[in-house]
Amino acid sequence: WRKWTLKQKIQGMPKVEDFVIVTETLNPTLSDGEILTKAEWLTVDPYMRNAANHLPIGSIMPGGQVARVIKSRHPQFPEGTKVVGNFGWRDVTIFKPGTPAEQGPATVYKMPNLRGLPDSYALGVCGMPGNTAYFGLTKLCQPKEGDTLVVSAAAGAVGSVVGQVGKILGCNVIGFAGTDDKVAWLKKLGFDQAYNYKSVDLAETFQKNAKQGIDCYFDNVGGEFTYHTIRNMNNGGRIALCGAITIYNEDFSKPYLVPFDYATLIYKNIKMEGFMVLRFAKEWYDGISQLRDWIIEGKLQVQETVSEGFESMPQAFIDVLSGKNTGKQIIKA
Ligand code: NDP
Repeated sequence: WRKWTLKQKIQGMPKVEDFVIVTETLNPTLSDGEILTKAEWLTVDPYMRNAANHLPIGSIMPGGQVARVIKSRHPQFPEGTKVVGNFGWRDVTIFKPGTPAEQGPATVYKMPNLRGLPDSYALGVCGMPGNTAYFGLTKLCQPKEGDTLVVSAAAGAVGSVVGQVGKILGCNVIGFAGTDDKVAWLKKLGFDQAYNYKSVDLAETFQKNAKQGIDCYFDNVGGEFTYHTIRNMNNGGRIALCGAITIYNEDFSKPYLVPFDYATLIYKNIKMEGFMVLRFAKEWYDGISQLRDWIIEGKLQVQETVSEGFESMPQAFIDVLSGKNTGKQIIKA
């Protein structure tokens, strides 16, 4: 069976040559409590870039997958069950589930009931990225009807859900993305305004188009973009620090500087809070159910960028970090 491992230390933007497929032989005779699964859908996500910095060379790349149980010696995961597992970049896995599915997103959990939506959604809108958007927005930004919400990396897996949930909650939503096609898609999704951050002057764009000021900022990127957003925030504004993709290719072990606007944060009484989505583990299925229902009700649209085959994982990962994806990037095994 195959797994993608780290071949060398990644410097800057990853390259396909940083990874190598290793084949391995697994003993198909399972011990008590074990399951053997085969991946059907795999995911690549920006967090893997930083995770790779901390892995010894030769380690399997981390990540989630939707897999089918092929053999089982675990009563709660019989043969044929579909699971969402954090098994890493591998096609076949032998695993011993330890935590009952009801207790939230353990290392493996049963496929949530998606009421007929595609299984791959369990890695996107009805999984980790969807819950990141849902809980990060509702719990940290706490938007009120009429608030202006700014979303960066707005055409990605998390951002596209943040903006649409913002609309459902009655916000005035302004999204930023890196191509004109993505901007057009955001407008189709119902964003009130959308801009290509690569081709507009950010200071001018905020001043002209966010005249009422920004109440909520869902930050996926950090860096200069965040600096300009903070400058235009209203008194009592709330910022959810979700991601900082502008610096993921930096060497975090050394000091690095980003532009920042302390004055506005202080004088405008702004609350800025970082979070990891697993903080909301206890409510995991509530988030998924709400997002699923909004999709079924036609209030939330979903797009995926699908790459074909297990072999394509490194390239798909590079694509996410360089903005080739619209919506959730997934891999069909
Ligand atoms: P996306 O699907 O949004 O893909 C990443 C996107 O980031 C790209 O498509 C690209 O779009 C954009 N991007 C890349 N480089 C830059 C840059 N230098 N400046 C601005 N935008 C850039 O990924 P996710 O939705 O999975 O993740 C979005 C963010 O949320 C990430 O920062 C991720 O780490 C974070 N995250 C945090 C979690 C948490 O628990 N805190 C959980 C999950 C995700 P474009 O063409 O618009 O540039």
